[in-house]
Amino acid sequence: MSALTLVKTTASPLLPAERAANRYSGVNTSAPSTKPLKVGGITPFSATDYPGQLAAVVFVQGCPWRCGYCHNPHLQSRTRDSPLAWAQVLALLQRRVGLIDSVVFSGGEPTMDRALKDAMHDVRSLGFGVGLHTAGMYPRRLQEVLPLVDWIGMDIKATQQGYDTITRTADSAKAVWASAGIVVASGVTHEFRTTVHPALHTPSEILALAQTLSAMGVRNYALQVFRGTGCKNDDLNVISTEKFPSADLIANVSALFESFVLRCE
Ligand code: SF4
Repeated sequence: MSALTLVKTTASPLLPAERAANRYSGVNTSAPSTKPLKVGGITPFSATDYPGQLAAVVFVQGCPWRCGYCHNPHLQSRTRDSPLAWAQVLALLQRRVGLIDSVVFSGGEPTMDRALKDAMHDVRSLGFGVGLHTAGMYPRRLQEVLPLVDWIGMDIKATQQGYDTITRTADSAKAVWASAGIVVASGVTHEFRTTVHPALHTPSEILALAQTLSAMGVRNYALQVFRGTGCKNDDLNVISTEKFPSADLIANVSALFESFVLRCE
């Protein structure tokens, strides 16, 4: 298969939670891909988006949610035509062979795009590993692409009860927790991560979330303290995150996982 060949995908019935996500996004995940991936931007070289690997990051356009702390709000809407043609992205990646190890699909929400699986095949055919950043709202597509993924960074935003407040979308939790189970069961190397903000998470919610993830079998977890870069929500930007979460809470959360990272910037 050449790098630009499209692979046919098989239509399959939607999970109820995916139907809910599609209702908000106008996307039908059950249909096969007919168009190449819609790419909103690319970082040709990153040492921070795939642990231990030098990677290019492909930012897929579109996300059905509207989180107040989103750092990439310009990627939330999908335009009619891809801002960057996939063929152009592949040509750039071809020039990176030997210079980087992997390609990370990020967003927006990469699993929103029906062409994701084809794009992953293309990237693998160039000899790269594949990383995926996802918020997990399309579990069926996630399951479909997981065999092509070497490492996954999965956003887990809150406990089930806290989800809709953060995503500003009704019924957003169910699909995510289905995806979380799929990731753990798959055995793909993972990092689950939660962006925390004192206006969105109480300490007890953070601990309860970490306990739930640990009980599910999540091994690697990161807490990312909110930072204002790229965030257009002044209500969140004006609140100080100094000393949040507390040292005690960090120690308690850390003890639940094989590996734990606190990211403050
Ligand atoms: S899920 Fe991610 S990309 Fe989508 S709105 Fe929330 S933070 Fe932004």
